[in-house]
Order: sequence, then C-alpha cells, then structure tokens
Amino acid sequence: MAELSLPVAIGPIAIFRKGPAELLIRWVDGHEAVFSFRHLRDKCPCAACGSKPSHGPKPAAPGGLPMMPVLVKGAEGPADLVSLAPVGRYAVSFTFGDGHSSGIYSFEYLRGICPCPACEARRREG
Ligand SMILES: [Zn+2]
Ligand SMILES: [Zn+2]
Repeated sequence: MAELSLPVAIGPIAIFRKGPAELLIRWVDGHEAVFSFRHLRDKCPCAACGSKPSHGPKPAAPGGLPMMPVLVKGAEGPADLVSLAPVGRYAVSFTFGDGHSSGIYSFEYLRGICPCPACEARRREG
C-alpha cells in the first residue's frame, strides 16, 4: 500500500477531562498528551494575554463604586477550565474559571505547546 507523502493532518480527535485540573488530548496521529489547565491558561494566545498589562493606574470603577473582588466558587480559580468549544474546524476555545475565553487555540498551536517530553525534545531540536 502506497504511503501518502502528505503531512498528517493536525488535529485532536478527542479532548477529555482527565483529572481535576487536566485535559487529555488525543491527536489524529495517535499522539496523546496531558495539558494542565494552568498550562493552557498561561499559553492563552489572545491579544490581551500576549501583551501583559502594564503597571499603570487601574481604571476607576464605574459609578465610583468601590472595586469588589471577584468571587469564585469553591475549587474554581483562575486556572480552572469551565468549558471548551470548537471553533470552526481548526481550533478550540476554552473558558477558564476567571471568565476568560477570548483565546482561540488552533490545533496547530495546541500541538505546538504540547507539554509532553517527546514534543519538548522535538521543539528543542527545531
Ligand atoms: Zn487570553
Ligand atoms: Zn506531545
């Protein structure tokens, strides 16, 4: 049987929750890796996260009301993952415990931030 010389299509075929703070992603080529929510949150590709806010003065609260801390329930924290949704046929978006959901994680990007030792080694080699 002839082998296709085309690169394997990049894409996860399954994403599911593995533990309280981890996702298991299985790729179309059989690769599997565990992504912690914290890792995904830290690697959020959206413009706001890409350029961390400066240390400028905080904007005044609307109406002059005192700023209230955002309450999160129980175990939920900034790195918790509330939900994920497909974006077209090329990406997924995550909603985190802090309400942040503007990052679009293309499959290629996700594979590029795969934290498993094999992918890290391959990235080091270039
Ligand atoms: Zn972001
Ligand atoms: Zn990997």
